Order: sequence, then structure tokens, then C-alpha cells
Amino acid sequence: MPEASKNLQNKINELSQIIYKAVTDLSKCKACGTCITFCPLNLRKFNKDGKAVTINTTQSCGGCTVCVHRCPEHAIKLIKFPKKEII
Ligand code: SF4
Ligand code: SF4
Repeated sequence: MPEASKNLQNKINELSQIIYKAVTDLSKCKACGTCITFCPLNLRKFNKDGKAVTINTTQSCGGCTVCVHRCPEHAIKLIKFPKKEII
């Protein structure tokens, strides 16, 4: 296998071991719903207190950062976990 392909495969393997989760600072969320509207994987919803959170799932949040950048209150952070820590 050519070196570039090997490096790419290594990167793909590395990324497949990572899970992302978008975490909301609940004190900053103003419940505008923007992150829920724009999440391409439909992983955001309102909790019982009307704040937007990422649903509980073992599925990796895509880590696309759309919600992070769209949130007008800068209330969302993307946290990265090694897969083995949460399985
Ligand atoms: S980072 Fe992307 S996939 Fe993850 S919750 Fe935010 S918008 Fe959805
Ligand atoms: S975009 Fe930000 S302020 Fe709006 S609902 Fe989502 S977390 Fe809350």
C-alpha cells in the first residue's frame, strides 16, 4: 500500500475510535431551538426544563460543530471521548 494511503487508513482508524458529544452549558441556553433545527443527525432536543441538550446515545455525535457555531449564546462545547471510555 502506498505511504499516503497507509497514513489515510491510519487516520480513519484513529477517528473511528473517537466519540464526540456536544455538551450544553445550561445556564447559557436561551432555548431558541437553533441547534435542534440544524443538527444534521437530529441528536439535539429540549430537556424537561426547556434547555437544548444532546440525546443520550452511544452513537457518536458527528462532531460537525454546526451546533457549536450556530448557537447565538455560545452555550455548546464539543467534547471528545475515546470510544473505550463509554462502551
Ligand atoms: S456537533 Fe453536529 S452532529 Fe453533533 S450535536 Fe452538534 S450539530 Fe449535531
Ligand atoms: S442554539 Fe444555543 S441557545 Fe439555542 S437552544 Fe441550542 S443551546 Fe440553547
